[in-house]
Amino acid sequence: MKNSGAKAGPPDKTVKREILFHGIPASPGIAIGTVMLIADSHRDLVRDVKTARITPEQVEPEITLFRQAVDRTREEIKELRTRVQSSLESHEANIFDAHFLIVDDKMLMNEVCSSVTKKLIPADAAFSQTMQKYIAAISAVPDPYLRERAADVQDVAARILSNLYGLERPKLDHLPGPRIIIARDLTPSDTALLDRSNVLAFATESGSKTSHSAILARSMRIPAIVGMSHFVERIEDGDRMIIDGFLGIAILNPEKQTVELYEQKENRKAKLYNELLRETQLQSETTDGYRIHLAANVENADTLEDVKKYGASGIGLFRTEYLYMNRATLPDEEEQFEVYRKVATAMDGQPAIIRTLDIGGDKLSEALGSYHEQNPFLGLRAVRLCLEKPEILKTQMRAILRAGVFGKIRMMFPMVSCMDELNKLLKLLEEVRSDLKNTNTKFDGSMDIGLMIEIPSAALIADKLAKKVDFFSIGTNDLVQYTLAVDRNNERVAHLYAPTNPAVLELIWRTVDAAERNGIWVGVCGEVAGDPRYVPILIGLGVKELSMSPLSIGHIRRLIRNVSMYDAERLAEQALAAETAEEALACSMEYLQKKVPEVLHQHEL
Ligand code: PEP
Ligand code: MG
Repeated sequence: MKNSGAKAGPPDKTVKREILFHGIPASPGIAIGTVMLIADSHRDLVRDVKTARITPEQVEPEITLFRQAVDRTREEIKELRTRVQSSLESHEANIFDAHFLIVDDKMLMNEVCSSVTKKLIPADAAFSQTMQKYIAAISAVPDPYLRERAADVQDVAARILSNLYGLERPKLDHLPGPRIIIARDLTPSDTALLDRSNVLAFATESGSKTSHSAILARSMRIPAIVGMSHFVERIEDGDRMIIDGFLGIAILNPEKQTVELYEQKENRKAKLYNELLRETQLQSETTDGYRIHLAANVENADTLEDVKKYGASGIGLFRTEYLYMNRATLPDEEEQFEVYRKVATAMDGQPAIIRTLDIGGDKLSEALGSYHEQNPFLGLRAVRLCLEKPEILKTQMRAILRAGVFGKIRMMFPMVSCMDELNKLLKLLEEVRSDLKNTNTKFDGSMDIGLMIEIPSAALIADKLAKKVDFFSIGTNDLVQYTLAVDRNNERVAHLYAPTNPAVLELIWRTVDAAERNGIWVGVCGEVAGDPRYVPILIGLGVKELSMSPLSIGHIRRLIRNVSMYDAERLAEQALAAETAEEALACSMEYLQKKVPEVLHQHEL
């Protein structure tokens, strides 16, 4: 294997050498296969058309080609709508209505044809000029919803142009066969659309371990690497590649021996996974008898089987925001109720924590009308947005409370930053409860209500917040980001994203301490809960539940069963007293090396 090194040089398109790239491991697993390169948005096509001249004889053929491209685009949109409709079942796929309006707009089409005829310019130039005028006009309207439609217009325009040029468009939801997806960026909604039967793995230039695309990849069990700098320009569609999602390594054009090496690695890893699967019935208990609940993080009710399969003690985080993505209308109460009821029933009496809507930041919903913010992660996200649009939250609360009749559902609020927000949320909840009572609707009247601690201000007033709720769940993905002022999605500051930074540990400790004094329990549902290196410190600090991707549960159970709470508490004390994040982590790793090396080194097998 050759390292790509610092001096990359221009890409050599003739000799296919083996090249090794390093990124951030985002989702475990190994994939060997053919690359599908997702080019940057075709939207740029509209801007980039060059104006040439044509002869009068070329007018007719130009117009015919243009009309054919529009017809083909209309067919594509129809097909896309049918596919999305069937994959989302009851969801309305009217996200595409705006697209149809454009391909069926006679005035627009006439304007393009008339430009070709009168100005003697090719159809692509005439079309691009007309569309740029439209897009500029829409972008200037004050209504943010209408303004956002400019993105739809741009999408369709790019689609028409790529059909006119005969370009192949990437279809993430319908891959031509098993492929490794390579892109500069995949948004969470792109990732949610991925054709699961054919996507072998993905690697992107942007992102970090806790970006939502990475979290989704883990939940979909797709190996993934993010934060691969200067990567895309060195890759061609159809190249062969190995993705090692454990170590964050991509190998372009692997040699035969490298492929063999990875096949052996894959076998060894599969062996450990199978061994761990046989341990699902064993208690998750330390050697000195302390029980730690191992719960699952779930993004989609279709993956509930995994929760059972890997032996989770419940669902510690059901991220409901994915119900609101890739669609034009909001899910109504009935639709949500059906999903939450499915969760409650599938869990068979085990608890499931349903988190209320956490949209905003990098997770956007067309149905809610996107809006531009300078700092989306500090903006109108999660409960802030819900408190601005209380009807959306009330609908969700009704659905969750009603589903509680079918199992042990708990409700949890994300991103609370102050007491005032919590008070408002609890007041809304009271209103919903009395509406349900007044209409004789069945609901769980004693449902546990919890709070995510993911903003430092919440950790600092945990003692006050704890008096009003039944549990806390620490969202370390955000807590680390907000404590250290490090964007969780930005690969350039990923080295500063340190969950064992003493400041973060201090906030976790304060949260647990406040909870204990108020008689409530604390879980962790951020990504560190499933990462062996952090687990001894977390349980030593007093965390009672760890919620993670189902795939990690086996490893963490093996770990818990091989450590003692006595040692974990000493480690937590050392970590709190450490000067640096590295020092704290080193103590934990040294300990794990003695107790469960196979779990610590699972990535290097
Ligand atoms: C977290 O912030 O740790 C968390 C679990 O929430 P999310 O990753 O969905 O923001
Ligand atoms: Mg969060």
